[in-house]
Formats: sequence, C-alpha cells, structure tokens
Amino acid sequence: MDHNKLAELLFPHITKTPEEYMTTIYPRRQLPQGAMVTRFAPSPTGFLHIGGLFTALVNERAAHQTGGRIILRIEDTDRKRSTPESEENIKAALKWLGITWDEGADVGGPYGPYHQMERLDIYKKYTDQLLKEGKAYYCYCTPEELEEERQALLKDGKMPRYMGKCRHLTEEQKAQYEKEGRKPSIRLKVPENETIVVHDMVRGDVEFDSNGIGDFVIVKSDGIPTYNYAVVIDDYLMHITHVIRAEEHLSNTPRQLLVYEALGFEKPVFAHISLILGTDHTKMSKRHGATSVDAYRQQGYLPEGIDNFLALLGWAPQGEEEIFSMEEACKVFSMDRVAKNPAVFDIKKLNWINSQHIRKLTPDAFFELAKPFMVKAGYMTGDESGEKLDWLKRVVATAQTQVDYGAQVPEKVALYFTDDFDFENEEAVSVLKEETVPLVMKALIEGFHSLDELNHDSVKGVFKAVQKGNKLKGQQVYMPFRVALTGNQHGPELAEMIPLLGADRVEKRIMKSLEKAHVSL
Ligand code: GLU
Repeated sequence: MDHNKLAELLFPHITKTPEEYMTTIYPRRQLPQGAMVTRFAPSPTGFLHIGGLFTALVNERAAHQTGGRIILRIEDTDRKRSTPESEENIKAALKWLGITWDEGADVGGPYGPYHQMERLDIYKKYTDQLLKEGKAYYCYCTPEELEEERQALLKDGKMPRYMGKCRHLTEEQKAQYEKEGRKPSIRLKVPENETIVVHDMVRGDVEFDSNGIGDFVIVKSDGIPTYNYAVVIDDYLMHITHVIRAEEHLSNTPRQLLVYEALGFEKPVFAHISLILGTDHTKMSKRHGATSVDAYRQQGYLPEGIDNFLALLGWAPQGEEEIFSMEEACKVFSMDRVAKNPAVFDIKKLNWINSQHIRKLTPDAFFELAKPFMVKAGYMTGDESGEKLDWLKRVVATAQTQVDYGAQVPEKVALYFTDDFDFENEEAVSVLKEETVPLVMKALIEGFHSLDELNHDSVKGVFKAVQKGNKLKGQQVYMPFRVALTGNQHGPELAEMIPLLGADRVEKRIMKSLEKAHVSL
C-alpha cells in the first residue's frame, strides 16, 4: 500500500466507540457485520510457547467462527533476539497444529508488509506527525542519567518513571547534545493526573493512573520503534477489530491507548485472556514441564491431542464430553467462554487426552507416529520391508492402547527386541517355584511347537487345553508362564505376545528363566 493511501486512513479527531469503529472496518475489509479481524503477533525470539499457542488458537477460532480474518504479524523489532529460525519454528508449529492465517507472513495480503522491520518508514511517517504536533519529543538522556533518575525516585519512595527532563529543550540545547554525539530517542508526552480506562472484553473496565506511566519511549535512539508504539500503528492500519492477547499485556494497554489518542486512531476491542498456569497456579514455566510446542511434537504428541486439551481448558463446556476433534472444538467456541475459564496446564490431563486421540489413529498412522522413536531406540532402521516390516507393524500395534505419546512406544515393545531380562522381584521368582510349574511349561512349549500357525486363537487354545487336561486353575498356568516369558507378573496379553515372538524364542526365554530360578524341567 502506498503512503498516500495510508494517510487517507488517518482521521484527525475521532470519537467513535469500538463498535462504531467496526462499522467503518467492515466495508473497507468487505466483511459482514460481527466478523472479527484478529491477529497473532509473535516476536520471533524463541520457540512457540504453549501459552502463545493458546493465544493463537483463540484468535484463530474467534476470526473463523465469525467469518472474519486472522493475520500473522511478525514483531521482529528486537533485532538482537529475533532470528529467522525462530520465525520458521513458530510458523511450522502453528501449521502443525492446523492453525491457518488469512493474511500475513508468507501469505501476504493488502495491509502488509507483515514484518515490523519492513514497516519502519510507515512508523516514521507517524512519528514525524507526532513530533510536528508537539505530542512527542526528542530525549537525549543517556542510560546512566536515566538510571540516576530512577535510583533517586526509588530512594524517595516514588514510582520510577521518566520525569520529562527533555520535554522542553531549546533548539540550542538540542544542538549542543547533537554536537556531543548523543543519539536521541523519541518519547510520547503523557498527560498528568488522568485516569486511563481499558475497556476489556474479558476483564471489564480496568483503570490506570497516567502519573504512574511517565513519558515513555516510542522510538529508540537507533530509529527502531518500541513494541507499544508499533503495535498500535499496525493494529490500526491492518484494521484489527479485536486485539486478543495474554493477560500479561494488560499493563501495556494504557500506553497503547495513549498512542491511539495521540495519533487520533479509533480503538479496537481489547480482550486479555487468562495466562496458562501451572498446577500451582503460577505462570506456566519450565518448572511445570516442557513449554515449547515443538517439545511436545518431538515427544510424539498429536496436534489433535494438544488442540483438544487447549480447547478444553480454554472454552469447552465443562463436565460433558471431553474428547473432541478440532472441528467439534471450533463449533463450541465462544469468546464469553474463554473469558470465564482460567487455564491450568495439567500434564496428566494432556496425556490422557492425547492417549485417547492415539487410540483413534489407524494402525498405519500409529506406526508412522512411533517410527522415529523406534529408529532412535535402535529397534528398526526405517528401511525395512516385507515380512520384517509386517512384524514390526504388528509389534508396534501392541503399544497403541498403552501409550500417552509416541516416545513411550519403545519401552512398551522392548520385550520383543531383547531376550535378556531380570525378574521384577522375589515374588515373581517364587511364582516359578510352584510344584506344577515344570509340567505346565513343558506342556505349553510342546503345544506351541505343534501348532501350524501361531495366532491369538490357536495360542489361547493351547493354554485352555493344558489347563483343562491337568485340572488346573487359570492362575497356575498363565502366571508362571508370564513370569518365565517376561520376568514380570503383569504385562501385555500372552496370546498377543507369543505369536509375535514365535515358538523358538518362547522356548529359549522360558528355559533361560527356569535355569535362573533354579527350576529344572
Ligand atoms: N509481540 C508481542 C508478544 O509476542 C505481541 C503482543 C500483542 O499481541 O500485542 O508478546
């Protein structure tokens, strides 16, 4: 968009309410009344955090639920910490979770560019305007001077803020500072003794005292705008109707409202949604487990599991069905619900929800999920084919109902890959000391060898025949065999395991265990 067009969008004295403002946006964006135009505006300074994902999800649902649009804007003004890798990671994580954006980075759109560092000349235009109107001014204070002021205020028991030292510099003073080589920042003049009210969709009216703010920097000495400044210009020019973001930004909003006022911009609706909290109700951090979305992907969580979990703690009806698809979660979305639910990140709940989605996968999809973990464990190369691949698929399938996420598969199938194991405890060993054990073992091994085909039913048949033929209880047959075969008293169904191990390996394992337990046949 060229700058003359941008200038047309500037209305000098606007007194419209947010609702009225919407009515000017919809025709311009050719959207129906009530549609929400939202944005997700990550800073590419790290991985996508679970909390960031929650914000993205709410923005996406709000936009798409109402027939609106969501924009992905990259807030890359922190040049030291922003990296292209981080941006790619964030976009990949969003895509992995099925979050699509209608405008923004990669996809373009009519209100770009969508990277803040490509919008510097746009910000400059507004800064020049503020300077000309006397609403902003150059500040030549050095970091040392600012720190001195801060300390002095703190010493007097006052809230540290900029006291406006450079507000009224004369041209001579400015020239002197320039001569000294000082590079100025630009500050916004903040009115004194005013109450700034944030009308928040979630929190209602929240009041702030302008005296606690002080003239704040809108453009740093290197010419880069600060977050609180650039965000306002972008949200306005991109015709955002609803700024939906994490609660931690609520304290930034009064500053942003001051920028809206100074520029004469109409204001959007603000909604500050609850942060994701750990189970101890403090902000979710590393202490509570992995915080980056990518870490969950790498552990073999499913996007539908994570979406379901976030939707459940974000807006889904409580106490009803807890497992739903992305489409179903989208249907029940409403901003009112988001408002009421505090979000606590309970990893046990996520694991349970993910396990339910894992059970819904086709065997092939489950195998694909497990594959990288199986390769990493050294149980396969990934190049297998034919019988070997079929066997691997059958082995992996045994874990589908046992795991919460992909990385747990190898430990669940380990028993198929090594014939070395220890008895879990003394109690297990004592099971093998029962009088009937030698007879049972011999009969079962012979039975399995005699079968043409080892499968679930034929193996079960052998167990039944041995039990009945010797007038034994089920316990006396299954338990010692399980211990001798696996070392454990509990585990996967024997009729599932035995066909996968084959009669020879079964015999080898049994004989080794009996020898270890000093039981002779
Ligand atoms: N870049 C900010 C962040 O990542 C965006 C805040 C906002 O949505 O206004 O926290």
